[in-house]
Amino acid sequence: MTEETEHVKCLIIGSGPAGFSAAIYAARADMHPVMYQGLQPGGQLTITTDVENYPGYPQGVKGPDMMVEFQEQAERFGTDVRFGMATEVDFTGDVHTVTIDGKKKITADSVIISTGASAKWLGIESEQRLNGFGVSACAVCDGFFYKGQEVAIVGAGDTAAEEASYLSKLCKKVTMLVRRDEMRASKAMQHRVMNAPNIQIMWNTETVEILGENAVEGVRVKNNESGEESEFPITGFFVAIGHKPNTDIFKGQLDMDDVGYLKVKSGSTKTNIPGVFASGDAADKIYRQAVTAAGTGCMAALDAERYLSEKGIH
Ligand code: NDP
Repeated sequence: MTEETEHVKCLIIGSGPAGFSAAIYAARADMHPVMYQGLQPGGQLTITTDVENYPGYPQGVKGPDMMVEFQEQAERFGTDVRFGMATEVDFTGDVHTVTIDGKKKITADSVIISTGASAKWLGIESEQRLNGFGVSACAVCDGFFYKGQEVAIVGAGDTAAEEASYLSKLCKKVTMLVRRDEMRASKAMQHRVMNAPNIQIMWNTETVEILGENAVEGVRVKNNESGEESEFPITGFFVAIGHKPNTDIFKGQLDMDDVGYLKVKSGSTKTNIPGVFASGDAADKIYRQAVTAAGTGCMAALDAERYLSEKGIH
C-alpha cells in the first residue's frame, strides 16, 4: 500500500453543523482548512426532515438542504471539502498526524474534531441480522417503506416520541416499547404520542427478539415486572434509544468521559492536547442541537486560530 503524506494548517474531521461552522470561520481567517467528511457527509441532519429551530429560517428548512447550504458557504471561502474517514490519529508529537481511510497520512498544525454522534442499538442478535430488512434507527429515513403497516419503536426519550409521532402519520399502528413505567421525553412530546389514536404504549416492556428470517415479521417482548413474554406481528422495528459519540479513534489520546464524550477545558474547545479542539455532539452530551454544534464549531476555529498565531504559524 502506498502512503502519501500531506501537511495542512487546519484539519477538520466531520461535516455536520460543527464542522462546517468551524470551516467557515477557519477559511475566512486564511487557515486553509481541509475537511474530511466522514461516513455520513453532512452528519445527522441529513437524515432529518424539517428543522424549525435553527435561527434564520423562519419557515423551517429541510435538514439535507441546510447541510448543502452549510457546505456551499464553507467552500465559498476556500474550504477543501473531501470524502474520506479518519481511521487513526497520533496526537503525541508537536504536529498531529491523522490517517485517512487507513492509508493517506495528513499532518496538521491544528485539528478540529467534529465527528458527531451515532445512533445506539439494543445489541441483540436479531436486530443486527435484520438491520436494513425491517430494522432501522431512523424513522424519518425509512418510515415511508412501512406506509399502512404495523410497526414498533423502542425508546422513551424525545427522539422516540418524535419518531413515533412521525410514524403514526404513515403507519396503521405504532407500538412504543418503553422499558420503565414512565417516559423521559418532554411533557409536550408525551402528550402528542398519548393523544395519537394509533400509538399504543407498552410500559415496562423490553425487547427479547425481533422475529423473522429475512425480514421483520414480529417481535417478542417481555414485561419486566411480571416476567411474562408475548409476541405480536409487525413489519418494521425502529430503535430510538439515544446516541453515542463518534470518538473511538481518540481513545487513549484524548480525555473523554466514560461514555466517550470528549472533555474540553471549561469555556473553550481545548482538549488535553494542545492544537486539538473538540466541537459539536462529540463533546456535548447535554444540548446536542444543530445551533449549539454550530456555536462550538465557531469557537473551535477561533481557538485554533489563536493557537496557531501564538505558535507563530501563519
Ligand atoms: P435519550 O437519551 O434522551 O433517551 C433514550 C431513551 O431510550 C430513554 O427513554 C431510555 O430509557 C431508552 N433506552 C436506552 N437504552 C435502552 C434499551 N437498551 N432498551 C430500551 N430503552 C432504552 O435520547 P434521545 O435520542 O431521545 O434524546 C437525546 C437528546 O436530544 C435529549 O436531550 C432530547 O431531549 C433531545 N431531543 C430533543 C428533541 C426536540 O426537542 N425536538 C428531539 C429529539 C431529541 P430510560 O428512560 O429508561 O433511560
